[in-house]
Amino acid sequence: MGNVLDIQTTTRTELIDITERIRAAVRDSGVKEGLCAITTRHTTCSIIINENERGLRTDILGMLEKLIPHDQNYAHDQIDNNAVSHLRAILLGMSEIIPIEDGHLVLGKWQSILFVELDGPRNRSINIKILES
Ligand code: ZN
Repeated sequence: MGNVLDIQTTTRTELIDITERIRAAVRDSGVKEGLCAITTRHTTCSIIINENERGLRTDILGMLEKLIPHDQNYAHDQIDNNAVSHLRAILLGMSEIIPIEDGHLVLGKWQSILFVELDGPRNRSINIKILES
């Protein structure tokens, strides 16, 4: 079963909680046991799983700024001026896979699925693939 979620981002860099939308897709699929794969076809955004807490969201963006700062003479900036966005997307990854048990995503209490915009604002889409086992 496949599904596409559209996401409209509103700033250059932001984290958007998509947990409830993924849960709804799993519910609608009727799959009780299996896997949920969440992927994006874009090269300047990411999907991560972690706690959705305001301070931590700020810290994640601070970490990205520290690890992959602007103004580093990136080669890609000569043609597209967004090397930082690509490099950060590589660091965070473009997919997550979550088990499904008893019709529910297997996530811990503090785990949320976060879409990370790294070169917004843009119209984005993510693919949800639900496999029954
Ligand atoms: Zn680029």
